[in-house]
Amino acid sequence: MAVLMIYTSSRNSSVGVSAAEAISQGISEDSGLFVPVSLPILTGNDFGKLKDLNYIDRAKYVLGKFLDDFTDEELDRCVTGAYSGNFDDDQPAPLKKLKNNKYMLELWHGPTCAFKDLALQLLPFLLTASVKKEGGNKKTVILVATSGDTGKAALEGFCDVEGTEIIVFYPQKGVSPMQKLQMSTQQGENVFVCAIEGNFDDAQTGVKQIFTNTEIAQRLNDAGLQFSSANSINWGRLVPQIVYYVSAYCDLLKNGEETKDGFNVVVPTGNFGNILAAFYAKNMGVPINRLICASNANNVLTEFINSGCYNKNRRFYTSISPSMDILISSNLERLLFEMYEKDSAKVKDLMEQLSQHGKYTVDNSVLEKIQSVFFAGCCDDEQTLKTIKKYFDDDNYLCDTHTAVALNVYEQFVAKTGDTRPTVIVSTASPYKFSQSVLKALLPEKNCGDEFEMVEALNEYTKVAVPNSIKKLRDAKVKFDVVCERQEMPQKVLDYLNIK
Ligand SMILES: *Cc1c(COP(=O)(O)O)cnc(C)c1O
Repeated sequence: MAVLMIYTSSRNSSVGVSAAEAISQGISEDSGLFVPVSLPILTGNDFGKLKDLNYIDRAKYVLGKFLDDFTDEELDRCVTGAYSGNFDDDQPAPLKKLKNNKYMLELWHGPTCAFKDLALQLLPFLLTASVKKEGGNKKTVILVATSGDTGKAALEGFCDVEGTEIIVFYPQKGVSPMQKLQMSTQQGENVFVCAIEGNFDDAQTGVKQIFTNTEIAQRLNDAGLQFSSANSINWGRLVPQIVYYVSAYCDLLKNGEETKDGFNVVVPTGNFGNILAAFYAKNMGVPINRLICASNANNVLTEFINSGCYNKNRRFYTSISPSMDILISSNLERLLFEMYEKDSAKVKDLMEQLSQHGKYTVDNSVLEKIQSVFFAGCCDDEQTLKTIKKYFDDDNYLCDTHTAVALNVYEQFVAKTGDTRPTVIVSTASPYKFSQSVLKALLPEKNCGDEFEMVEALNEYTKVAVPNSIKKLRDAKVKFDVVCERQEMPQKVLDYLNIK
């Protein structure tokens, strides 16, 4: 089969690999991220066809454009395996209409109740198919750093998948009680979960260092193992996320919504993966007008988009939207690559400045380009809680803390621009994953007791159904209670893999 899609490294344009290579490798040897050299384009014709298809068929169509080294049978196996049966009502990404042209794109109907499932139910299939295609016979060790949701979604996705081991590191004090319980009770023969003393950035930096440590790589190789990543640095994580933006547009079309002037998309953002997928969708022809980047008190991206200066030298806040408590948004590198017209030398230089000085500033012309596409805003915990209450009281819509940040920043956007065209707001987690905070917003007097009493109180008050996977956690046994220092991470990995 002719391979048309080539992926290069954001830090070295002489790299050129297929989708399967990009996915099985995870990250380029030069520490750059794999990026498509060109994007497939979707036309009115495509959307006309896609709007009458279900999610699985839309996914096969869009993924087929990116993964053109996969056969139709392979794609069918991957996509059907991921999306049939694992999501409520077989609807991975339903669009719910609220007042005033707002649509909630609910991405938390999968097994772990956060949007990460959309990618991480599919990634194990893509990864094992890719490794096979590459003729590899090594076992793949998936290393994950998580701010809460990726870890559980990756554990669910890779649990007992043949030919894989999965190791997850999370910040001990940086995840919600429910997120911690989800991870520490994970079943499976091939899983290991470890908390670290530090925040998400420490976990992510630690994992990146293990990835690029040649001595460790050699020892793994000798043991018949190889690393890969389930973080959104892996292209196989991003490409499934492009699908739901295409799908959301198809649903708008199908519902006869007026989108001739395009629509806006609001994304609660941490590592910049989800919003980057929307950016790719826009560049492929989905008529997205503005991309609204919503941050919590860790507003490094707000400042970057508004000033052109990215500066991670700042206070780190532990917020009630923990999956966005991030100061190094790794996927921004892919945006810079696009905005600098694929100038990998420039991107390498900026990333070196970031690693040496913790900051960099982009050129004015690039800043203008970024601002023409993105709007950025942030809100703190207090505003987040107020927003949860407001939407429950006014729209009867119950949202989680991350989605509330998006709704709040969307209001800032409308106030500033007067732009009221249709807008898709990405709803990234079930409110029950963050019951304590959501309850605090709605019923402060009931904000006590154990996690499951709070789930019950929330359910009683709102009448919104509790996801089964959350109900089941009540009786689950804790399997993992290990905590380590960041410097101990490599040793934990070697110990778990039994490498002497
Ligand atoms: C991961 C996550 C985010 C942030 O997504 P990025 O792709 O890292 O920007 C937002 N909300 C929730 C609930 C998440 O789990």
